[in-house]
Amino acid sequence: MEPVIYLDNNATTRPAPEVVEALLPWLREQYGNPSSSHLLGLQAEGALVQARAQVASLLGGQPAEIVFTSGGTEALNHALRGAAEAFPAKRHLVTTAVEHSAVRALAGWLQRQGFEITVLGVDGEGRLDLAELEAALRPDTLMVALMAANNETGVRFPVAEAAVRARRAGALVAVDAVQAVGKVPVDVAAWGADLVAFSGHKFHGPKGVGGLWIRRGVRLRPFLVGGEQERGRRGGTENLPGIVGLGKAAELALAHLPDQERVADLRDRLESLLREALPDLRIHGGGAERLPNTSLLALPDVEGEALQLCLSQRGICVSTGSACTTGRPEPSHVLQAMGVPPELARGTVRLSLGRETTAGEVEAVAIALPQVVQELRASGSMARRMR
Ligand code: PLP
Repeated sequence: MEPVIYLDNNATTRPAPEVVEALLPWLREQYGNPSSSHLLGLQAEGALVQARAQVASLLGGQPAEIVFTSGGTEALNHALRGAAEAFPAKRHLVTTAVEHSAVRALAGWLQRQGFEITVLGVDGEGRLDLAELEAALRPDTLMVALMAANNETGVRFPVAEAAVRARRAGALVAVDAVQAVGKVPVDVAAWGADLVAFSGHKFHGPKGVGGLWIRRGVRLRPFLVGGEQERGRRGGTENLPGIVGLGKAAELALAHLPDQERVADLRDRLESLLREALPDLRIHGGGAERLPNTSLLALPDVEGEALQLCLSQRGICVSTGSACTTGRPEPSHVLQAMGVPPELARGTVRLSLGRETTAGEVEAVAIALPQVVQELRASGSMARRMR
């Protein structure tokens, strides 16, 4: 296969070789069920305990507070549905207009169950207004559900400040930390959150495995009934190889957190090279506090889809926005919430670097991307002249 330059790490990341090494024995020789009390079962149980500790260290929580799930979407389902069922007297949810489709869909589901939903807007840079959040809180607010960092723009929300306000009002705080974990230090206790969702494949772990951190003492309705696994919160035999891989990925993410400074330098260098070559370039959320790896570019007079395709033909993988909304012609809900005009939203591509991104790759993209933009603009204006 031709070498690719992979700048789509917010969609998913390459499983680290150490992760693959760590999980393979649990597919091959060590296939015991953690619930069995014989040798192989006890070994499997030991691996679960280790993975839980590895994940808890990365998040700053206690191992007993981690519930393994099939990923971020399931963790968010567990958080929102589990809380709604545990506290039936509280029928109001506060969330934001830029959440991932999982939280948006869950808010819609709660609304159909009779919930009132307050959706907080963001400013042109994708920032949240804490005064607006505070004003939205009510005595019957069950929860504030917000993301730690946005998957499209990388813009970070002030989770700790939001949590202080929510707790004062007696509301739970559920944080979608899927994009933040592994890219910025996460300390669930310092955040003051109650529920924090994360996903292994966003930090070089396997796909289809993640979890929910549930602060000790927070009552949720169990998510999957039918077994005693995960302390009865999620029945079903555990995905042991996936969980072992997740644990290893968490350990590596913690060790590699200092690398994120280098990632930020590379991202900033890429943006400045692109700005030099393309003076009309805009960076969505560029004025806000962002993840170190994400750059959402806006290019007037270019179709994001065409740009993505041409870059892909040159072996460069980027995204037109979030993978979940790709293929839809209208601007993403995030850009709409930021008030980006449709003509500018059309020319949007997301570059998301990773800890494996090299300076050479950044230089290559800084040359290729402006070339492709110029070619597309030239063919667009030719097409307009011929009309
Ligand atoms: N939340 C955010 C912010 C995401 O970016 C994603 C995945 O793209 C998810 C949740 C869903 O995670 P998963 O793919 O593990 O279900």
